[in-house]
Amino acid sequence: MNKKPGSQTKLKKDVLEQSLCTGCGACVSLCPYQVVYHDRTVQLHDCDLTDGKCYAFCPRTPADYGQIRESLFDVSEVTPEIGAVKGYYLSRAADPALRAKAQHGGTVTGLLEVAIAEGLIDSAIVSSRNEELEQEGRLIEAKSQLCDYAKSKFTVSPTVAAFNRLMGDTVRKVGVVATPCQALALAKMKTAVISNDSKINQLNLVIGLFCGWTLSVESFHRLLQQYQISPEALTGMDIPAGKNILELYTNESVTSVSMAEVDACVRTACHYCIDSTAEFADLSVGAARFGGDCDEMRGWNQIIVRSELGKQVMELAVDRGALEIREAPASALQNLKNAAAEKKRKALKNIIEKSRSVKNLLYLNSDDPVVRKYLSIDKKRKGKS
Ligand SMILES: Cc1cc2nc3c(=O)[nH]c(=O)nc-3n(C[C@H](O)[C@H](O)[C@H](O)COP(=O)(O)OP(=O)(O)OC[C@H]3O[C@@H](n4cnc5c(N)ncnc54)[C@H](O)[C@@H]3O)c2cc1C
Ligand code: SF4
Ligand code: SF4
Repeated sequence: MNKKPGSQTKLKKDVLEQSLCTGCGACVSLCPYQVVYHDRTVQLHDCDLTDGKCYAFCPRTPADYGQIRESLFDVSEVTPEIGAVKGYYLSRAADPALRAKAQHGGTVTGLLEVAIAEGLIDSAIVSSRNEELEQEGRLIEAKSQLCDYAKSKFTVSPTVAAFNRLMGDTVRKVGVVATPCQALALAKMKTAVISNDSKINQLNLVIGLFCGWTLSVESFHRLLQQYQISPEALTGMDIPAGKNILELYTNESVTSVSMAEVDACVRTACHYCIDSTAEFADLSVGAARFGGDCDEMRGWNQIIVRSELGKQVMELAVDRGALEIREAPASALQNLKNAAAEKKRKALKNIIEKSRSVKNLLYLNSDDPVVRKYLSIDKKRKGKS
């Protein structure tokens, strides 16, 4: 009789060998057999467990994503483009010193500070650079240290592995800053039958980041080399609104790199990703895009409030004077939805090109209403042309 393949074997075949691995870290540190080596997920040994958490939690294995949405959010608030929207604003941290250290408005760090100060969480997992100049998740307990980990690093950070490492730890209330694929992995952990693990209750808050792509560390370091920038010297990076460039900052200079060069460094898995706004987080934060000038916009974020908890955290932050919010112009929400819809269309097109069949959507399911919507839009477009 043929033995059923183990979960790890399936993960290898369905995700790693398909170049679908986002590097989220959700399958790492659950057992000794799966690790991150540079920005690759590596299997050190074969495990034949057939109901492994690695496969269940991976954001690139099939699941009933509609069901996950239903169990975490108010379905009447779910939009096809950007997931659940309870509220949508422009926001920034009230403290100018925090804003100066942050990527944009410092909303993410400001929210975490308030959540710790008010006891909603007692620690937060953010992204930190390790000795090999790669990103990894790090648990921070002191509110005053959070701003040292602010700013976006556009290379992969296997942040969820830090949450897995913590799972055997003493009881905590943890907040995690997560890219969309990481927020999805955490949502799968919360809702998977297999998890049934009281330790997941330690996850008290997920703050999602908007995300267009991440860069492969190897390719990005090669790119830096071309511009004679050492990875150690890099103090920040940003994509200014309306400009098709990536800016690289050091203490001495600002270097502009064309998007064509950046595109060549994008991790392959990102081309198959349909989520740009972290649809499975409690709150999602991105760069502000509104009619103002570029410098003004850099100091603000867009924030999507998704869950009751997210609403509570944002209201608390405003009430305590830590966060400033203002109404976003209707056009900003529409522009965000248009950009998010475009990412979905492109990713589905790439998925179908890869599988060579509209019936095989790799990790997605054509019965999912969101997927169905974008498949049918594409069919209509083709019909017209
Ligand atoms: C890979 C990546 C791609 C992004 N793409 C877009 C985009 O296309 N459009 C858009 O509007 N916004 C994008 N963002 C989000 C944006 O860059 C800001 O993170 C967001 O606007 C929040 O700004 P802030 O000032 O509130 O953040 P801050 O207060 O500076 O906090 C940023 C937080 O993000 C964490 N972090 C940094 N790098 C990573 C990482 N690689 N993985 C996980 N966590 C990390 C930090 O540790 C910190 O906690 C992206 C972010 C990342 C990391
Ligand atoms: S996407 Fe995440 S969970 Fe899936 S194989 Fe890669 S690192 Fe592991
Ligand atoms: S584009 Fe998608 S797959 Fe790539 S890092 Fe962002 S959320 Fe993850």
